[in-house]
Amino acid sequence: MRYLDSPAFGGCSAPVSAPPSDPEHARVAPPVERRASPRRHVRPTRIEVDLDAILANVASVRALTGVPVHAVVKADGYGHGATAVARALVAHRAVGGLCVSLVEEGVAIHDAGVVAPTLVMGPAQAGGEDEMIARAMTPVVSDPGDVERLVAAVARRGRPVEIHLKVDTGMTRLGVAIDQLAAIVARAQAGGLIVVGLMTHFACADSDDPADPGCMTYAQLAAFERATAIARGAGAPITVRHTANSSGAMLFPAARFDRVRPGIAIYGNGHWATDAQAAPRRQAMRLCTEVVQIHEVAAGTPVGYGALWRAPRATRLAVLPLGYADGLPRRVTGHAEVLIGGVRCPLVGAISMDIAIADIGAVPHVRPGALAVLLGDSPEGGAPISTAEYAGWSGLTEYEVTCGMSKRVPRVHVGGAGG
Ligand SMILES: *Cc1c(COP(=O)(O)O)cnc(C)c1O
Repeated sequence: MRYLDSPAFGGCSAPVSAPPSDPEHARVAPPVERRASPRRHVRPTRIEVDLDAILANVASVRALTGVPVHAVVKADGYGHGATAVARALVAHRAVGGLCVSLVEEGVAIHDAGVVAPTLVMGPAQAGGEDEMIARAMTPVVSDPGDVERLVAAVARRGRPVEIHLKVDTGMTRLGVAIDQLAAIVARAQAGGLIVVGLMTHFACADSDDPADPGCMTYAQLAAFERATAIARGAGAPITVRHTANSSGAMLFPAARFDRVRPGIAIYGNGHWATDAQAAPRRQAMRLCTEVVQIHEVAAGTPVGYGALWRAPRATRLAVLPLGYADGLPRRVTGHAEVLIGGVRCPLVGAISMDIAIADIGAVPHVRPGALAVLLGDSPEGGAPISTAEYAGWSGLTEYEVTCGMSKRVPRVHVGGAGG
């Protein structure tokens, strides 16, 4: 501590705030008013989300499938910013509605002034019934308990509520078992719930071969047809049926029914055999920052925690102000690349919480302030870094990459004008 206390260290022990024993100063100061505008961020690390790409991707899915798209914007729009994505989609009349997992997600979008038919698909809506009904969100019922709680809410409210019913056709995750269906429909209808929608979810649409009549997706579709007959037979006035996530929508025409529920496809990720028939989809997310410092190092210089990497030759290193706390997993260490000056440069040494280091020996003209693109394309050129490639560096899926971008990184939405 003597070392830390020494004035030569820069006065770390200097009283930056008065000691907590002084009640006048121990309290928490009122928050300082700040604008949230990205222009006010000090750190240059940011996620740029191309809303025009998302609009084009939705249009492409719509054209391929021929049915309305109900865009899945759960998990903050897969990390792209649910409110901004929803606002652009709704303003452009690009979608028939929105799908979220949580009541909270629907509320946040609604509170931001975006009003659209919203399906709350999630596995945990107990306690959110009044909120969903008050805001005209459509609950998905997956369990007898969901029905009882909604019936009670309808009784409090005094008028019927339309719901969608989720049936388990083989994924064994969320949904009503087919043999419980008739009883649940009867109970729901008697309690003032109008079962207008029937849905299910696929386990294997992304890996099944649509040319294989024995694949699991077709077995689930057959079960869904049986479920439809049972639910209608029990009195459900079903007018809307939907089963297809992105893979189901892109690969299985028989799965499209009255609407599709794509998530990953609208963000420009995932790839399917039918991509060739659809308008090309565009990756909407770009993760970028700027070089903050440059080191000229001699051969043998160790870099970062654990000295995991040593310069094999004299080179230049760029310090990048982002790390695993931002969504660049530590496990990419030794695999990742970054576009600087339009050139692919390797990230070297262990990824830290806030810092990554690039070997820029191949790009001599780089100066502090240079753009560094970790995900997506660079306006300066070079082969774009796809979400699939970024995911491969750390053994993640594309879903985990965009959902795993930390809330610490500001989302800057571009495009989406008009509408
Ligand atoms: C997340 C989700 C989707 C969207 O899945 P993608 O693979 O991202 O297209 C569709 N339906 C349900 C029920 C979901 O939970």
